[in-house]
Amino acid sequence: MGYSYDHENIFAKILRGEIPNDTVYEDDFALAFRDIQPQAPAHVLVIPKGPYVTYDHFANEATDAEIIGYTRAIGKVCALLGVAPGHEGAGYRAIANSGNDGVQEVPHLHVHILAGRPLGRMLQRAD
Ligand code: 5GP
Repeated sequence: MGYSYDHENIFAKILRGEIPNDTVYEDDFALAFRDIQPQAPAHVLVIPKGPYVTYDHFANEATDAEIIGYTRAIGKVCALLGVAPGHEGAGYRAIANSGNDGVQEVPHLHVHILAGRPLGRMLQRAD
């Protein structure tokens, strides 16, 4: 399928410890840290530790253990943030921008977890 991963992207540098981050959660499969430019009271990025560019790259090529581990990490982050609707929180939005039309800036898979205020409708027109 021809996915190409840039090992010098900023999240790769964060994973190698070359750039500091405000860690919320970490395990063998995932790192979660606060977005440097938060767009909601809670804005956390959850990234897999493996070299995957987009969600489809990860879904197609990651091992079962990586997929389970990463998905469980997203659940743990929602619990840590206290945002799971119907439980302790009022809800959240999970976003994985991918590629040009998805306006992905950093080419390492990341799921944004946004919460802490009403987030409006899912999409606004780009034009
Ligand atoms: P994208 O548009 O790729 O989905 O979002 C990339 C996100 O990464 C943006 O929300 C941006 O604020 C965040 N970001 C970019 N560089 C850094 C960084 O060095 N540290 C942290 N914590 N977040 C970053």
